[in-house]
Amino acid sequence: MFSLFKRLVAISAAVIVLLFVVINALAFVEPDTLKAPTPKSLVITHVNVVDPNGAGTIRSNQMIVIEAQAIRYVGDHGSVAIPTDAQVVDGSNQYAIPGLIDAHVHTLRLSPQLHFPLLIANGVTSIRDMGDSCSWSDDLDCQPDVALWRLQQKSGALVAPRILQSVSFHLEDESIDVAMLEQRIAVVQKRAEPFLKIQLDNQIAPQEFGKLIDISKAHNVALAGHVPFSIDLLAFDNPMRSIEHDVHLLAQCSTTRPEFNGRNQTKPVLLQGIGGSHCAQLLAQLAKWQTVYVPTHVAASGQDLAFAKAAFTVADAQWMQRYLVAPQRWLWQFLQNAGREGPAEQQVLADFHQAALALTKQAQQAGVPVLAGTDALDAGVMHGFSLHQELQYLVAAGLSPAEALYAATLAPAKAFGVSSTLGSIASGKHADIVLLSANPLLDIRNTEKISAVIADGRLYDKAEREQALHYVEQQAHQFTVMARFLRGLWY
Ligand SMILES: [Zn+2]
Repeated sequence: MFSLFKRLVAISAAVIVLLFVVINALAFVEPDTLKAPTPKSLVITHVNVVDPNGAGTIRSNQMIVIEAQAIRYVGDHGSVAIPTDAQVVDGSNQYAIPGLIDAHVHTLRLSPQLHFPLLIANGVTSIRDMGDSCSWSDDLDCQPDVALWRLQQKSGALVAPRILQSVSFHLEDESIDVAMLEQRIAVVQKRAEPFLKIQLDNQIAPQEFGKLIDISKAHNVALAGHVPFSIDLLAFDNPMRSIEHDVHLLAQCSTTRPEFNGRNQTKPVLLQGIGGSHCAQLLAQLAKWQTVYVPTHVAASGQDLAFAKAAFTVADAQWMQRYLVAPQRWLWQFLQNAGREGPAEQQVLADFHQAALALTKQAQQAGVPVLAGTDALDAGVMHGFSLHQELQYLVAAGLSPAEALYAATLAPAKAFGVSSTLGSIASGKHADIVLLSANPLLDIRNTEKISAVIADGRLYDKAEREQALHYVEQQAHQFTVMARFLRGLWY
């Protein structure tokens, strides 16, 4: 009996070692890449051009001329001659919106295989990358892949969005070691990263947070990310460039914040202290500082509520079967099961979500720049698809469809300093346009009715979009890609 047990242990150990070796070996197989279509001269005819500015306007029967990957002309149809070499795209009954910008995604080394084509097929032509594979390793020697992706996006070697901003490290420390922090800041500055991402311990002492602010200011590097629950932002002068995830602003806006630890049990207490003059004062100050707010409802309070109800925030469960590698799908399923709650807890999470939505509207009315972001890669949040869900959350929060679109186009373009080239359909800007078959200002869900995407002057028509989606599906089901994904978890 004993020897049988021993033998089983030995066999199991051998199988694990063998699997480890096989996964590592397979992981070295270089994955395929998907090349982008060649940019062409294009003319979109008879199209409705949507401008999400202000109340939102639509100019009907327009023509958009695209040459050398830029928008050369937008005006009444027929007001200029169609260039002879241009490919004509019939825009009749179509609505042209600016290419969408997701202000909060995460990437992996496998993003060219698993994420970028999904973004493009969903009309998301630009992203802010809040952390790649390196940022999870706390290893500053780890070289981010972003520099190469940017070159490949430009040359068309890869179907990929523009990466507007990117960070390769996030600070998690409980206490601030000045020398260590200065060393880290030097590395991110050398990489020309736009800010230091913070995801600190939620109970960090205010004086430690103060030290961090002082050092970051002394080195002229901005902070962006999570706000620890122990911190009152109003106690500091312009401390952060952007605040991520609804729970973090909700905590700042409650007088009972000191009793909140992020867990469900303390959520009713937090809700009791919501609003009031402290919140109004904070929002006014954030507006003054132009601190950006990226609620990521789809990954924050919306996700908690969905998981409590044994659901996902993504509308279609089929997408997960198609576009996720199996281990990721299992992980998401596990996390969803772990978040399942009874009716009483579901009610708490529903109230929390409603409060988060209400605060987004309040922030937007106070003049805080609200941006659409998803936190894609988080459980149940899919690159590309989930941005449309986030737009629907923003409308549920009380923003008009035009205001929601603005939060995914011109608002991020302004916040990231690229509004002269992105964020609207205007002459001189990059040719990033999404064609919809229905009016998004009447119903925000119409942003999902995509008939074509033009990204950097490259046309993804129905066939090209389907090819991009099919490519990801194929990649996600390859053993070598799965092995590379698994290997990425421990290297
Ligand atoms: Zn994130």
